[in-house]
Amino acid sequence: MDSETASSLPIGPEAPGRASVLIPLALFTAYDYALPDGFTPPPGAFVSVPLGRRSVTGVVWGDGDLRIDATKLKQIEAALPVPALPDISRRFIEWVAAYNMAPIGSVLRMAMSVPDALEPERETKAWTIGDRTAGKLTEARARVIAALEDGAPLTTGDLADSAGCTPGVVAEMARRGMLRAVALPARRPFGVPDPDRKGPALSEAQQRAVDALVALEPGVTLLNGVTGSGKTEVYFEAIAACLRQGRQALVLLPEIALSAQWLGRFAERFGAPPAQWHSELTGLERRVTWRAVLDGEAKVIVGARSALFLPYRDLGLIIVDEEHESAFKQEDGVIYQARDMAVVRGHLAKIPVILASATPSLETVVNVDQGRYRALHLPDRHGGAELPPVTLIDLRRDKPERQQWLSPSLIRAVHEAIASEGQALLFLNRRGYAPLTLCRDCGHRMQCPSCTAWLVEHRYSARLQCHHCGYQTQMPPACPACGHSGTFAACGPGVERLAEEAALLFPQARRLIITSDTVGGPKKTTELIKMVTERAVDLIIGTQIIAKGHHFPHLTLVGVVDADLGLSGGDLRAAERTYQLLHQVAGRAGRAEKPGRVLLQTYDPDRPVMQALKDHDQTRFLRLEEEDRRVAGMPPFGRLAALIVSGRDEAAVESQVRIMAAAIPRGDIAAGVSVLGPAPAPLAMLRGRHRRRFLIKCRRETAPQPFLRAWLRGLKWPGDLKLQIDIDPYSFL
Ligand SMILES: [Zn+2]
Ligand SMILES: [Zn+2]
Repeated sequence: MDSETASSLPIGPEAPGRASVLIPLALFTAYDYALPDGFTPPPGAFVSVPLGRRSVTGVVWGDGDLRIDATKLKQIEAALPVPALPDISRRFIEWVAAYNMAPIGSVLRMAMSVPDALEPERETKAWTIGDRTAGKLTEARARVIAALEDGAPLTTGDLADSAGCTPGVVAEMARRGMLRAVALPARRPFGVPDPDRKGPALSEAQQRAVDALVALEPGVTLLNGVTGSGKTEVYFEAIAACLRQGRQALVLLPEIALSAQWLGRFAERFGAPPAQWHSELTGLERRVTWRAVLDGEAKVIVGARSALFLPYRDLGLIIVDEEHESAFKQEDGVIYQARDMAVVRGHLAKIPVILASATPSLETVVNVDQGRYRALHLPDRHGGAELPPVTLIDLRRDKPERQQWLSPSLIRAVHEAIASEGQALLFLNRRGYAPLTLCRDCGHRMQCPSCTAWLVEHRYSARLQCHHCGYQTQMPPACPACGHSGTFAACGPGVERLAEEAALLFPQARRLIITSDTVGGPKKTTELIKMVTERAVDLIIGTQIIAKGHHFPHLTLVGVVDADLGLSGGDLRAAERTYQLLHQVAGRAGRAEKPGRVLLQTYDPDRPVMQALKDHDQTRFLRLEEEDRRVAGMPPFGRLAALIVSGRDEAAVESQVRIMAAAIPRGDIAAGVSVLGPAPAPLAMLRGRHRRRFLIKCRRETAPQPFLRAWLRGLKWPGDLKLQIDIDPYSFL
């Protein structure tokens, strides 16, 4: 805190009062502080307060507790010269904390994710390319130059980050004159999207949906349409209507779908880009964006789930695109479902929320059926293209060669597609070369030392990787159990192994692998996608990273190598997720003038999910799923919560869950609640921690939170034991 802002406190004659201040740390409550004379900050004001020996920034939350002796309170140090955190933001933070049973301070922390955005505005020093020849062009220095060739000037920190070097390299280049300093203005103007710019021509069905959306009352609307039906164009008009009212609009997308294609369409419709919020932003971009959202200057924000917690000055509309995506569930830190929290945010602000999807989640469909949500359907494909026919390949009859994964029919179809100048896509949602490596002599399986999981061979990087904790090791020269060498066998296919098979079968085809291992982030994705759309490749081999929101006009064949993958594991939503993913992949085929076809390889073609995919009959599939869940009392017909207890010492974890089992509440509070477990979690060990799970099942009309509060009250957590509370769990590992 510098002296300039500290002196901005008004000093008056009144007796010192008090206020409670919430601090963005893992705290369940706000702390009371004394107010300096005559200072009455509004609720939501950002203030700096002493905490221990530090000075921290917090938010004035309430009046404080008069029972606490005022002379014992420490004093607020200063008010920060920024607008207060809006009332709705504070109510939202309280709601999210209470529902998800998370420390309210941790939720505030998500809303204050850019602490230096609260500092006084100042010019920022940044760098552009100076005299390249003023020093030796080392490898690191070449990366610095390359990072700047992309465009805008960067600060020292951002430049070092994107070039992957130390700040010292940047400083030395500056000293030699290889970089030139420029001053960035404290605030850069955000482009102003123009709602009245002419958009693309809309079909009749699209126009009807637009009319309904523009007249939207507060509440939730499902915008449902098949891939390519033009949902985006339709919800753009709802954004336009919101902008005409002078309010802000938020579009939440799963991170992976935040593509250059989407941004390009937005800029085309509105003449300016939206403000973006995702993990690839530089520190400066985050700071500028956070402030522009609070000041109301950023009008349309598109971002991943954390964008929901930005301090909107006047949010008038929320759109959750791909609402069925499980990526909206945050699985660490504060565990929450961003789609569900978006609905709450909309409800608190009394504004419309639009959930868009080609394959809506069962939760949302049931909410429509029961009248809680409205629904708009976009039946026709924009441009008149047909849904591609889907054929099931029965792998029990149409068998691949030994140690191969493509059936004769699929191989033939790829040849045909390429011969007729189309593109083919082989989809396998599994990274790496092989999911399991075992020793042929002794049967030893290569396992992660800190998780209950096999190590996955990645042949390109010549390493074994754990996909749960990120552990990596080199492939050992010999079996660690029997010491024999040359005995390792790769079991099962990963996308790298599939690429090897494709190279043998289709040696003439120009092949491209797209997986999260070959793709660094949105920028690299855009490059690869461009190679596909410009027909620089014939055959694409990829994981789910290619399934999202990209338009491939020349793709005429999609082959799903293992349609059954993802159905095992006993996950509540396994079939639903498989349907959504495969439907999305299938939708990549034949979106322009060229008709496409889709082949699904399966060992179980009679399964409802496979039949539904074949017949494009989503409704029948959802009805079957719905019936299963209704009978079992599973969501959305019942509620679930999970408790996960973990620790390094297995005996301590065991003893803790026994104590917990003995403390399960009974009586009225337990009416309609049942507790399953404790049981070892399927990932019984993760990152070196032993894990036990309880699953709490409630009737729909019973909230699990009061029961859980009663249960957990008074429990002690000795040593490094940790409790994770997951309300409405999506992961059952
Ligand atoms: Zn691991
Ligand atoms: Zn061995």
